[in-house]
Amino acid sequence: MNILILGSGGREHALAWATLQNPKCDKLIVAPGNAGIAQIAECAALDINDGGAVSEFASENAIDLVIIGPEAPLAAGVADRLREAGFLVFGPSAEAARLEASKSFTKEICDAAKAPTAAYGHFTDAETAKAHVRATGAPTVVKADGLAAGKGVIIAETLAEAEAAIDDMFGGAFGGAGAEVVIEEFMTGEEASFFVLVDGETCLPIGTAQDHKRVGEGDTGPNTGGMGAYSPAPIMDAAVTQKALDQIVRPTMAEMARRGTPYQGVLYVGLMIENGQPRLVEYNARFGDPECQVLMMRLGAQALDLMQACAEGKLAEARVNWADDHAMTVVLAANGYPGDYDKGSVIRGLDDIPEDSAHMMFHAGTTLKDGQVTASGGRVLNATARGATLAEARARAYALVDAVDWPEGFCRRDIGWRAL
Ligand code: ATP
Repeated sequence: MNILILGSGGREHALAWATLQNPKCDKLIVAPGNAGIAQIAECAALDINDGGAVSEFASENAIDLVIIGPEAPLAAGVADRLREAGFLVFGPSAEAARLEASKSFTKEICDAAKAPTAAYGHFTDAETAKAHVRATGAPTVVKADGLAAGKGVIIAETLAEAEAAIDDMFGGAFGGAGAEVVIEEFMTGEEASFFVLVDGETCLPIGTAQDHKRVGEGDTGPNTGGMGAYSPAPIMDAAVTQKALDQIVRPTMAEMARRGTPYQGVLYVGLMIENGQPRLVEYNARFGDPECQVLMMRLGAQALDLMQACAEGKLAEARVNWADDHAMTVVLAANGYPGDYDKGSVIRGLDDIPEDSAHMMFHAGTTLKDGQVTASGGRVLNATARGATLAEARARAYALVDAVDWPEGFCRRDIGWRAL
């Protein structure tokens, strides 16, 4: 089977690594890829948001399955173009990916499916939005409706903060994403991520994870794309998982199918759990990054079989072979991230790092320059490991971190603190 993976982050390195373990994979191309991916697969320069170009590339290379990593090509309809051209695709249509691209759309689907989530209002002008927060009070959550790379959500502790956030959003601080605003009830509880494959009809859970969004230890400081993650999430016990499936995932996926826009791909279910009751925070139409790295570490070669079954609409026949294991990933980021940071520093020590089914240094933002691996992004490496316990996975992940010689980078030393 010839496989094309779209994307260039740690998520795509992990997807490529798991795919290559499956003997079914004859050829793997990753577009555009990164320095770490180039060590295990062919990388190709390609505009992955251009459905026509991706489709042409896929036919030239006799591709049998396209796996779409990030959200931008999904929102741009790349999956649709590929399916029209007859390719097998792992990733939802643009219509179905609105579950990530529009927060008000997700709320509307939750209403129709009676799925538990925060109470909300949806606004197209600042005055009505402000009247709503004055009536409902603080704390409250102000969200730009569209995609804002994780930055369009303001948790407002006071009415003044909420009103300022509303003015910013309608004032264009998030461009078109803020032309409409969703205001939500502030939910308390513990967050977890739940990953479910959906083939339009059947929903198959493939794991849970928890991540660390804040840059600083003890979950302090500004938000980032994610500084580390671990799987499974202890709070997602069997009862909570069943409730999330029965009350949230299955009814909303049935509603998508009923509307003629069935969801096909991985559904990232962001949950807030309080007193054993999960409520939906958000849907994403793709694997999380860095959560994907821990899921792939645990699933290994079967990830490809599962993604293929999902793309073929055969999830009803698919099974996950669960191992009683744990995985952790620690993000190494460039000094200064998530603020300004330098690019181009050389990363040493990578050649001596063990890479096997329990240890992997996934690359997130690296480029090969004159034969040397250099940092080319904010989040640069993902030290990822598996173990019989979370403590073992953590010890192994930090041993990978400590083998890297990169003074221009840093990581959090407390990934997994809540679970440990
Ligand atoms: P990301 O890209 O980081 O996932 P996003 O832009 O898709 O972010 P959300 O996931 O909706 O936005 O919100 C980001 C974070 O804000 C959540 O992970 C959660 O911690 C917090 N949050 C969002 N909505 C609520 C809510 N109603 N109550 C409490 N916290 C919330």
